Amino acid sequence: MPDDATLVVDFLNTVDIDEDVDLLSNDPEYRSWALARGLPATRRKVARSLRDALRARLVGEAAELPRVPLFVAVDAGRTPHAVVEDVVTAVLAAALALVERGEWARIKLCPNPVCLEAFYDRSKNRSRAWCDMAGCGSTMKARAYRARRRGATSSATTTTANPGLAASVRSTAITPSSGRDRLLP
Ligand SMILES: [Zn+2]
Repeated sequence: MPDDATLVVDFLNTVDIDEDVDLLSNDPEYRSWALARGLPATRRKVARSLRDALRARLVGEAAELPRVPLFVAVDAGRTPHAVVEDVVTAVLAAALALVERGEWARIKLCPNPVCLEAFYDRSKNRSRAWCDMAGCGSTMKARAYRARRRGATSSATTTTANPGLAASVRSTAITPSSGRDRLLP
């Protein structure tokens, strides 16, 4: 099984806005995604709403998480641990493990509105804002530069269907250093 951060990031990236792909939208693709990670592919719809809710929350939107029971096993000689039965419980257990280690804040979504790819910020001060600096980082910086030259206070990102994210993108565009901080929870 992949490590906690990899599993959570891969799970969040089962939807690709740019390519218009959603691996949780049908059973065959869900099954092959789950099998590749050694997990039973049950409860696809719960998995999908869990993913969508987690993605929404990562950009500061309110979203109701599906209510999923998570059982804890307490075995002799082991620390208590969540029982992993399928994709849904594996992702929740991995998320809890990240929270416990203080690493949940490292899970981020790229603020480029046409990207929104999830990534794990391994930087020392958790300051990474983009999925990759060469691609989205420079695209968004160029966009911010053009917006500044136009003297516009609102950029093209206001047309996105995601107002919370648009706000972060705009604040990043106007003041890159403080904007980055705002992306952190
Ligand atoms: Zn990106």
